[in-house]
Amino acid sequence: MDNWRIVVVDQLMDNYAYLIIDERSGVAGVVDVVEADRVLGAAEREGVRIVAILSTHHHFDHVGGNEELLAALPPGSVEVFGFRGDAERIPGITRLLEDGEDFALGSLVGRAVFIPAHTSGHVAYYFAEAGAVFTGDTLFAGGCGRIFEGDAAQMMSSLGRLAALPDSTLVYCGHEYTQTNLNFAATLEPSNQALAQRRRDVAALLKEGRCSVPTTIALEKATNPFLRTQSAELRASVRERDPSAGDDPVSILAATRRLKDNY
Ligand code: ZN
Ligand code: FE
Repeated sequence: MDNWRIVVVDQLMDNYAYLIIDERSGVAGVVDVVEADRVLGAAEREGVRIVAILSTHHHFDHVGGNEELLAALPPGSVEVFGFRGDAERIPGITRLLEDGEDFALGSLVGRAVFIPAHTSGHVAYYFAEAGAVFTGDTLFAGGCGRIFEGDAAQMMSSLGRLAALPDSTLVYCGHEYTQTNLNFAATLEPSNQALAQRRRDVAALLKEGRCSVPTTIALEKATNPFLRTQSAELRASVRERDPSAGDDPVSILAATRRLKDNY
């Protein structure tokens, strides 16, 4: 049996929170909480004790339940993790993490990976033993988040840090946007066979009422347009649609993001 388990918790219309559970101690951290009651219900069903909130970024649909969850659990029993530079915007924060800082969750070790661009204080949480990364609204299955507080160069560098994780790494993202993301991706790479196969796989999953996460770093590199600025077909599609776009990777990513914003 693995020493860890990850449970998906539906939030709002299309947000995901996750329980990452340390099987050795029965404690759990929750990544991004907006509806505290559903997270508490999941913890109860799983028979685990929540000892940490891992906030990826300050948007309401990711931290809106922090205070309510804290109020429902024994005072002082829950650490709230977030990026040090975003401390003022993470409700209830108690552990201010630097880029690359390790922390304990029971017997598991997590690491904060600073990935700004969607917001200026966004972090991912990487658990090497579990081979899992929680990417919030930066890397989505088949896409990436909107660039609200950064630029395309920053998004490229943040996505690059995630893409550098082992290919087998499981990717747990903040929203179920996969089908729309892949539909958009197919407009840019109609002859990408891995992408075509993935669209069929995801359609089948969703039809069964299941979710499309986790994905993997390998699958994202093969199908996610924001990790594929080196694809000749993608570059040609983007520049055909946006003749003002330059041919360097950052310009291609910027133009791809603009096309997606208007998709
Ligand atoms: Zn967000
Ligand atoms: Fe979000």
